[in-house]
Amino acid sequence: MSLRELLGQPSALAVLSQALQKGELHHALRFEGPPGVGKELAAFGVAMASACTSDDPLGCGHCEGCRRAVTFAEGPPSVPIHPDIVLIERGRYADLLRDGGRKIEERTEISIQQVRQIIQPQVTYSASEAKRRIFIIRRAEEMSIGAANALLKTLEEPRPGNHFILLTSRPDSLLPTIRSRTMPIRFAPLPGSVMRTLLTKNGVEESRHDELVDLAQGSIEAALELAGAESAGEKSTFVKAIEKAICIGTPGAATQFAESAPSDRHNCRQALIGYAAHLARRSRSLLQNGGNPEDARRAAEGYSHLLRVLADMEEFNGSPAMQLGALVLELAERGVVPPEERAAAVGRAR
Ligand SMILES: [Zn+2]
Repeated sequence: MSLRELLGQPSALAVLSQALQKGELHHALRFEGPPGVGKELAAFGVAMASACTSDDPLGCGHCEGCRRAVTFAEGPPSVPIHPDIVLIERGRYADLLRDGGRKIEERTEISIQQVRQIIQPQVTYSASEAKRRIFIIRRAEEMSIGAANALLKTLEEPRPGNHFILLTSRPDSLLPTIRSRTMPIRFAPLPGSVMRTLLTKNGVEESRHDELVDLAQGSIEAALELAGAESAGEKSTFVKAIEKAICIGTPGAATQFAESAPSDRHNCRQALIGYAAHLARRSRSLLQNGGNPEDARRAAEGYSHLLRVLADMEEFNGSPAMQLGALVLELAERGVVPPEERAAAVGRAR
């Protein structure tokens, strides 16, 4: 997708297109804004513009260069097949990075080895095929202090033809020195009209748009996750099991539930997104069908709490079970299951 097709970010688009048209792209950009609003699409748009073999400064979107900038290798490390488009991300080079003979797993951070072994050897030379080499750093706030300081040296002495794009939804977690060396481009939550267009593009039926736009707070990623989770979520055994644990509300029930839940982070997140959608729907349906407004408020607050937990889960590196136990007790405290549903919730999951 070329930069021209970036929706809902007019100011970011204007700054980037102008820089590309003038051939004056800053060597260290920081794309910041909430998750799922187009930061990565824009970064790959800049990558295309740089790899494009036509004379279109924004990238034509269909030549060989454009195509290779956004086509990923199948085997690990799965990175763009264009040699001048370099993706940096925690864990991406797990099979390659070594410290002495030891493998570097990068469970919590982008390591200094990634900067030394992936970035620094390339930055010495100019791009091999493209107009400029683009390094895209996903979740840049995950750089270790060592990695950030090593990168800083590179940013302070820019080599011509090498450009960095740091992607982050938590700019405050970056070292202040990294912030001061990078030029911010801000990405805002997407407006409702753009969300609707993108939902339609992704085949989500129109009858569900209002609700999803409302729930996802300007993040198309969240809207699509919710859309997927909603169809799967309602009758899932996970939803029944978590509601049972919430209704019992004891530490024992919370622990028992946490131990039975998916143990890997991705599946656990998906299941919780399903439950978030369930709470949001409960709140809405109570309000629409003359239920107790207090119960509707509790379900809505439970939903908001769950969204925060999901955001933290991205950052949290322990086992999901630890977070799930605490979550169950918190939701029990908040009373997210209305009294008249409690007996059924405890009974039906037995
Ligand atoms: Zn092209």
